[in-house]
Parts: sequence; structure tokens; C-alpha cells
Amino acid sequence: MTALRPLLFAANWKMHLDPAEAREYLQRFLAAVAPRSGRELWFFPGSVAIEASAQACRSRADIRIGIQDVHWEPKGAFTGAVSVGMARGAGASMALVGHSERRHVFGESEADTRKKVRALLDAAMGIVLCVGEKLEERERGETGAVVLRQLAAAIDGLAKEELSRLVIAYEPVWAIGTGRHATPADAADVHRVIRGHLTARGAPTNTILYGGSVNLSNIRALLAEPEINGVLVGGASLDPERWAEIVETNA
Ligand code: PEP
Repeated sequence: MTALRPLLFAANWKMHLDPAEAREYLQRFLAAVAPRSGRELWFFPGSVAIEASAQACRSRADIRIGIQDVHWEPKGAFTGAVSVGMARGAGASMALVGHSERRHVFGESEADTRKKVRALLDAAMGIVLCVGEKLEERERGETGAVVLRQLAAAIDGLAKEELSRLVIAYEPVWAIGTGRHATPADAADVHRVIRGHLTARGAPTNTILYGGSVNLSNIRALLAEPEINGVLVGGASLDPERWAEIVETNA
């Protein structure tokens, strides 16, 4: 791990933890985990808990708060949606884009994903772009092709400098919330495919995360793969003491 690329632990709380629960969680987590050089901790609370989370972490430079999804328009008649500016106003400095639940539960298209990336870059917000194949695509041997198609669609037209600002999360759909995870070697293979594409586009240094049923029993082996620069975690990040143990893992 180079100093340029700190080990990144990102927690996606999905539709869990209201503002009071988020505050209590972070109080317990911050008591258990001190800042450590070379490590960053990112939290993606539900939108209504962003402000409470950002306030709870304001003294910690190693922690950033993000939003789980944004709309690409700055304002308008989009009931239920949150704009990039609104997210920033609440205390988010980055966003997840293209999470598999957005793509496959809410029907987000690759064109939507691209528009979100553009809007976030224009606002100088951080981006974690999620890509990953479904089980049937893996079984048909299409993993690399699917991941590259999603990646290429999302970054179409970006300048090198813009591209280098993205964090990519490889999250096989069949591993998210299922208790099944990619083997470290399989995940590393896909990370190499992603890295190859980014390098060919002039951006060789992006952080690439793995996500999909990461927990205390598999974190060490995953982080032992040099291609895996950190993790994006849902279920195992919901308990502050358990998440503290995971982020304290020494790869
Ligand atoms: C996720 O939500 O991005 C995720 C990886 O979830 P889980 O860790 O629960 O599989």
C-alpha cells in the first residue's frame, strides 16, 4: 500500500440507522477506533442521517461521510430524490454511484449512472462507482465483459484527471448480502481487469475496493491481495464494535 493510496474501509448502511441511531453508533465506533495513518474510514448513512453523522465525526480527519445515491439534476420535480448540492449541504463529501441495489432493484440504467458521475465531478464531490456481475453472468463466463461494460459506460467522455478521482468498487451482485463472497484470488483477477482498463485510459492509480459479504473471517485474506485497496461493506458494518474490529484488521 503506497502513501498515495490509503487502505479504505467504506461502510454502506443501506436503509438502516435513523439519525439518533447513527449518532449512538458513531459515538461507540469513535471510542473504539483511533485515527491511523494510511487508513481512511468512509460511512454512507441513509440520507436523513448524513447531517447527524457528519457532525458526530467533525473532529476526525480520517473519516468522511457520503450519500448512497444522488440525482444528477441540481433541482426540480423529482419526488424522493436528493441532489448533489443537497447532499453536500447535509455534510456529504462523496457518493456511491451504481450500487447493485440501485441498478437491479430500482432499475437504474448505465446512462443514469454516467449522468450521476458527471454531476458529482462537476461539484468536486468524491465518487465510489460500483460495478459487478450477476450470478448468471459469472456462470456464463461474462464477468470481465460485464464489469468493463458498466465501467466504460459510467466513465465515457471523462478526462484523465477526472477519471483519476474515482474510486471503483467491484461488487459481484451474487455476493452482496448473501454470505457468499468472491475468493480473494477471483476478486483480484477482476480488479486486474479493472486496473488494466483504467490504466489504458490514462488513470493507473485509482483505489479499487472489493465488496460482497466481507466480514471478520474473510477480511484478512481479501486485503492480503495487493490488488484489493480496501473494502465496501454493508451488513458487517451495521454493528459499531464489529465494524471497529474489521477496520482494525492488519492486512
Ligand atoms: C454493499 O451493500 O455494498 C455490500 C457489499 O453489502 P454486504 O457487505 O452486506 O454484502
